[in-house]
Amino acid sequence: MSSSFHSARVAVIGGGPAGLMAAEALAQQGVQVDVHDAMPSVGRKFLMAGKGGMNITHSEPLEPFLGRYGARREQIAPLVRAFDPDALRAWLHELGVETFVGSSGRVFPADMKAAPMLRAWLHRLREAGVRFHMRHKWCGWDAEASDDATHMLRFATPDGEQAVTFDAVVFALGGASWPRLGSDAAWVPLMASRDVPVTPLLPANCGFDADWSPYLRERFAGQPVKPVAITLTDVDNKVHHRQGEILLTETGLEGSLIYALSSQIRERILADGDVTIMLDLAPGLALERVVAEVTRPRGSRSMSSHLHGRIGIGGVKLALLHEILSKEAFADANGLAHAIKALPVRLTRARPIAEAISTAGGIPFEALNEHLMIERLPGVFCAGEMLDWEAPTGGYLLTACFASGLAAGRGAAAYVDRAST
Ligand SMILES: Cc1cc2nc3c(=O)[nH]c(=O)nc-3n(C[C@H](O)[C@H](O)[C@H](O)COP(=O)(O)OP(=O)(O)OC[C@H]3O[C@@H](n4cnc5c(N)ncnc54)[C@H](O)[C@@H]3O)c2cc1C
Repeated sequence: MSSSFHSARVAVIGGGPAGLMAAEALAQQGVQVDVHDAMPSVGRKFLMAGKGGMNITHSEPLEPFLGRYGARREQIAPLVRAFDPDALRAWLHELGVETFVGSSGRVFPADMKAAPMLRAWLHRLREAGVRFHMRHKWCGWDAEASDDATHMLRFATPDGEQAVTFDAVVFALGGASWPRLGSDAAWVPLMASRDVPVTPLLPANCGFDADWSPYLRERFAGQPVKPVAITLTDVDNKVHHRQGEILLTETGLEGSLIYALSSQIRERILADGDVTIMLDLAPGLALERVVAEVTRPRGSRSMSSHLHGRIGIGGVKLALLHEILSKEAFADANGLAHAIKALPVRLTRARPIAEAISTAGGIPFEALNEHLMIERLPGVFCAGEMLDWEAPTGGYLLTACFASGLAAGRGAAAYVDRAST
């Protein structure tokens, strides 16, 4: 695998998908790579991502794919173009992992699992000479190091604190979600101590609180609401409308449709203190049809059984109507029909970042060069979720982590190459 022998030694800190990809890129250039991770083993969040079926990338055409990175499309696009979903799938196939495209267009390993893939990958990395140092938590820069000697790193290890010097460093420390899997964002003040800007970390792909009554919470928490559509106006007054599935939780709402709109919901709450989204509980039926069905004479039937009989609304959907509408509003057939197509639900808070699937915020691209090197810390590169971008679920997160890890690894390899000539 190595193209040439290199005396340079590069540290990769963080053994998630971004860090491991950086390590692979460096090893391919013949650089000695030392991967350090605070946890007893690498890739814990990656393994967790594989629990519900590892969605590694998406098969949609590249243009809409890149659009998923929203405001950071411009910065993510060159990284993903250099390692696009097809390249990622080819790379997986080389590892011996077959993939398939699900009905949603999402791409999965054939066995849906992350563990066999991680095992094969770690084996290949070790064969390429990559060394792993577990339970090595990066805890800062060496006190003696000046700004232009920032590759002296301190690690908290089971044998006490160690200071090690490297020719370059790739940080791939992750965001702040699911901290028990290793990414606890302890790096934020360490970067700030070197005047590296960090955009505040916020929950992404997360649930939101709605002030449910005890009745709704106790009787319906854990139930999916489907099919359903959400209409939401974002902070720029753009109206978003999407159909899918949500989950009613003890504290509010979560699920794939909420995650898909979570950045817009979060930003509205940040700007206004709360946000009201509109739920369409009968997305398959036009308003006129719902009005016609609901206002039909119902004889002695209760409104609830009338709704169930005419348009199939019952269970958790009916409970939501009761939760949000007054008794009088529920009894008014015409108003009720309109509420079924646009039920206002007030969301008040994002769930804590520790519960989120991913993290928004991090080191902004403006602080980096095109190789993801921190401009003010030559030889220090960053990749993965610790960078300031976000994307919905659907494989976009892992794709950008792999692609940025590759870019940072290649950047660090070129850096030590230049430094040694
Ligand atoms: C439940 C769940 C399901 C998900 N499902 C999907 C999915 O299906 N598809 C998808 O695309 N994405 C999914 N994701 C997101 C995806 O797993 C992450 O975006 C990805 O793992 C981030 O990769 P990373 O390498 O940047 O960081 P991480 O994977 O978080 O790795 C960071 C590593 O750095 C280490 N570390 C942190 N601080 C230090 C330190 N100070 N010193 C040393 N080591 C340190 C950590 O121990 C960790 O090993 C899911 C996430 C979760 C939580």
